[in-house]
Amino acid sequence: MRDPKPTLIRPEPLAGGESAPVGAPIMPSVVYETEDPDALDAQYEGRREGFAYAREGHPNAAALARRIAAMEGVGAGVTVGSGMAAVSAALLGLLRAGDHILGGDQLYGRSLRLLSEDLPRLGIATGFVDAGDAAAVEAALRPETRMILIEVVSNPTLRVADLEGIARLARARGILLAVDNTFTTPRAIRPAEHGADIVIQSVTKLLSGHSDATLGWVGARDAALLRRMEAFAVTAGMTASPFDCWLAERGLATFPLRFDRAEATAAAVADALAAMPGVRRVIYPGRDDHPDAARARALLGARFCNMVTFEIEGGRAAANAFVRAAGGIAFAPTLGDVGSTLSHPASSSHRGLGPEARAALGISEGTFRLSVGLEEPDALTGALAAAADAARRAAA
Ligand code: PLP
Repeated sequence: MRDPKPTLIRPEPLAGGESAPVGAPIMPSVVYETEDPDALDAQYEGRREGFAYAREGHPNAAALARRIAAMEGVGAGVTVGSGMAAVSAALLGLLRAGDHILGGDQLYGRSLRLLSEDLPRLGIATGFVDAGDAAAVEAALRPETRMILIEVVSNPTLRVADLEGIARLARARGILLAVDNTFTTPRAIRPAEHGADIVIQSVTKLLSGHSDATLGWVGARDAALLRRMEAFAVTAGMTASPFDCWLAERGLATFPLRFDRAEATAAAVADALAAMPGVRRVIYPGRDDHPDAARARALLGARFCNMVTFEIEGGRAAANAFVRAAGGIAFAPTLGDVGSTLSHPASSSHRGLGPEARAALGISEGTFRLSVGLEEPDALTGALAAAADAARRAAA
């Protein structure tokens, strides 16, 4: 017999009575029940807290967004399905045909691609400039420039942007400044306190920290700006998975400890690498020989980042030997995991550029980017020394 009232099927309330859970709960429901149309109106008009449909927002995404907003020191933010969704929500949610956007010339590869290929297709003009040179940024501005997008520390050459110089220019001209803070994280710098209007995170990386959740976050100081980015994210379906948000919230609990430990190890590893035979160059913003050392100290203070870039002697054969001998360090194009990972820009993030364009950025076949994890520092430097040895033998 057909059930006459299938809509009366409801899940049992969660067990627990009056007891509050200590661990964060997870809420995978796609839909939420509201008591009547007036209540739904109130909800959509922001007069009442609540959820209706998960693509528009859900408890795990909201909880995570609030926590990251507090860490970044912005009023509010929205959690989306990846770091690139966060970049896209900012650019596509706020720019319109006829606008011009200026990007740092060493942005993350997919951000570069969004600017160079997709925005022009939509009638948004783009330009690239050295974010370490505020005078060059000023010279590249146009009357229709609406936004500047930079990263605090560039990938993979770890150059430090002139954040304050660019923020001054942007403020004086009413241009929005968007800052991707993925490498530096709010533990090293809170860009909103230095004039950024919009702050972006690939939560996939250090904030979540275990390479098991793909997420992004975008926040703004101004509520109207955030509403526009959020509306676009909802329309474009940039929804974050509740499970990923739950994992990331758990990761956030240890983020400050993980960051501080990885950052301190990175500084030690950078010094150890600089003393290894066969290592031609080490780039770490906390070292005195970094080209932007003074700015790094002024902007970032005592905490830099967990990334170390270095160049070994020899070509591809030496690079292959290095990776094969770096036991225990995963050769993988990501960063911010609990374990260290090694990436080789010439064969991954920068493979689309020719050797000359790579050379102009200071990237050779011997360039590696190391994301330092939570291993014992001695174990890490031991593995790198063995790898450098193997690379020297291969190059000989
Ligand atoms: N921004 C930066 C600086 C990144 O390094 C990345 C990814 O590596 C992204 C954005 C994109 O993040 P996701 O991979 O979560 O989309």
